[in-house]
Amino acid sequence: MSSVYRVLCLSHDPAIILSEVEYHRPEAAVSDIAAGIDGHAECDLLIGRYSYPLIEVGCPPATGPERSGRPRCSTHSTTEWVDVAWLRILLAVHRNGTKEMQELVGATQLRHWSYERLRRLRDELGIDADEPADQSGEGR
Ligand SMILES: [Zn+2]
Ligand SMILES: [Zn+2]
Repeated sequence: MSSVYRVLCLSHDPAIILSEVEYHRPEAAVSDIAAGIDGHAECDLLIGRYSYPLIEVGCPPATGPERSGRPRCSTHSTTEWVDVAWLRILLAVHRNGTKEMQELVGATQLRHWSYERLRRLRDELGIDADEPADQSGEGR
């Protein structure tokens, strides 16, 4: 199956897709981000894997000094991927979960995905920004 990878900038609200470049391998996106992307050098950048729609999101390595402006994640040396289905669940936990649930997800690989990041990704996740995530009904 063919996927393409695009860089997402979360320093915008909502997040924007940097549509100038489309990658066929995630490593190419990672190295472009590490090298600095024009106009987004200090931005919070993620990698989206699309098989249309978006199916996975990667938090790129945050180790080099060139990424010191990187605001919303702790240091890690590999790209951390997560299926978007987990991000939708996580957003629901941030919004409606108990404190215990929120602490539990904070102790997993989902810790890369703060509420603010998810909120900015809402268009890509197909989630309404202002509605509680646990509404019943079939409006999606
Ligand atoms: Zn940017
Ligand atoms: Zn991260």
